[in-house]
Amino acid sequence: MDIIFNCPFCDQELAADPVDSGTEIECPSCSKTIKIPAAGGTDVRSAPVATAAASPEPVAPAGGASTSPHRPMKEFTVPQRATSESLIQKPNRPLDVAAKDTGRHLRVKTIKHGDCVEVGKDKFDEVTTEFLAKIGDDNFVSITPVSYTHVDIGTQKFISDFAVVIVYKG
Ligand SMILES: [Zn+2]
Repeated sequence: MDIIFNCPFCDQELAADPVDSGTEIECPSCSKTIKIPAAGGTDVRSAPVATAAASPEPVAPAGGASTSPHRPMKEFTVPQRATSESLIQKPNRPLDVAAKDTGRHLRVKTIKHGDCVEVGKDKFDEVTTEFLAKIGDDNFVSITPVSYTHVDIGTQKFISDFAVVIVYKG
């Protein structure tokens, strides 16, 4: 039966063999030196290990024999809990984080028809075609026509015009 105790520094739950009570170990979590506490009782030495009759391994006499008993060293382990996964379950990644992985974001480009008219020449189709060619087929997501109204600076009249909103990856 392992001793279950918590690291006094980082509160990491640890398990140790009762025979290691009083031994100083390095916390596997925070690397600080901690002492393994006694298993409930005050006299740890009378723990089950001391009952030599039940143990097939030789126990060194109190007189101090030169050969130390070879007891397989128990690793200090962090107890595994079946519920630990759900406790530290991460939230789903937001979509923009997923997009960052590929280095590309969804972007919007609005091309106004009015901005493409230069000295009487309507370059809207040309500008839009050029932009679509620039982003490429793979990055094109959608194109949406919109109409808008603005005040013409020269005539101070309301002018209705149209634009396209292009969604693309870039
Ligand atoms: Zn610790």
